[in-house]
Amino acid sequence: MAEGHSVLRWATALRSLIGEPLVAVDAPQRWATRAAMLPGAELCRIGTHGKHLLLHLSNDITIHCHAMMYGSWQFGPPEMALRKPEKNVRLRLRTRKREAVFFNGPVVELLTAQELESHEKLRALGPDLLHVSFDREETWRRLQEHLERPIGDAILDQQIVAGIGNIFKSEGLFLAAIDPRTPTRLVPPSKVGRLWDILIPLMLQNARRAGPVVTLNGNLRRGGERYWVYQRSGRLCFRCNAPIAMIRQGKLKRTSFFCANCQEIPKETAMVRD
Ligand SMILES: [Zn+2]
Repeated sequence: MAEGHSVLRWATALRSLIGEPLVAVDAPQRWATRAAMLPGAELCRIGTHGKHLLLHLSNDITIHCHAMMYGSWQFGPPEMALRKPEKNVRLRLRTRKREAVFFNGPVVELLTAQELESHEKLRALGPDLLHVSFDREETWRRLQEHLERPIGDAILDQQIVAGIGNIFKSEGLFLAAIDPRTPTRLVPPSKVGRLWDILIPLMLQNARRAGPVVTLNGNLRRGGERYWVYQRSGRLCFRCNAPIAMIRQGKLKRTSFFCANCQEIPKETAMVRD
C-alpha cells in the first residue's frame, strides 16, 4: 500500500527520466488524444503532495497519478520485462534510455495547467507531512475542525494532513503514546507536535530505503519483526508485554493496532488547551 514515503521513492526514480524527450506514452483510453501529444515533450519536474504524484511535462501537461491501495511502479531500460501482466499497465513513459510503468493505479489523469490549478481533490489536500515546509499550524487548524473524531481516523484524512497511510498511522501513534481512540479535542498540541516529530524522520528513512516498511530498530528486528504494533494484534507489546489490540475506525473501517497500556487517552479534566 502506498503511503507518502513510497511516493517519495517513486518520485526519485522518475527523476531519472527528466530532460530526455519521451518517445512513447501509453495512457488510459480516456486520455488517448492528450497522450498522443506527449512524445517529443520532456518530463521537467516531479512533484508530490501526500500520496499524489505530479509529473510536469515541458508542454504544460501534468500527469497526476495516485496508487491508492494497489498501484505500483516499475523502472528500468526501455522494453524491460514487466513484473505484472500488460493488461495491468495504466501508464507507460518511455525515453530512449529509460522506461517507467505504472500498474493498477486507479488515478491517471493528463491535466492542462488550468485543470491542475482548479483540481478540486488536489486543492482540498491538507499540508504534506513530508514537504520541507510542512505547515504545522495549518494542520493543527484543520484538526480542530474534527474535534470529536478519533485521532486514529483523523490523521488518515488527507484533507487534514497528507501522506499518512495505515502502517505509519498505527506505528506513529504507538511511538507518540497516543491511543488511536482519543477524540482529537483531547490531544494537546505538544502531543500532536511529537507525533509529527516521530513520523517525519521515520517516513523519510523508509523513503530512502528500498524494500518493505520497517519501523523497528536494533535487536527488536531479530525474528523478522518489522513493526511495533501494525498487524500484531494478540501478540505482546515489545515495551510492556500487554497484548496488542486491533480496532476498526472511520467510514472505511480501517484497522488501527495499538497497546492500550502504552498508549493513553488523556482525562477530560486534565486537558489544557492553548
Ligand atoms: Zn505496551
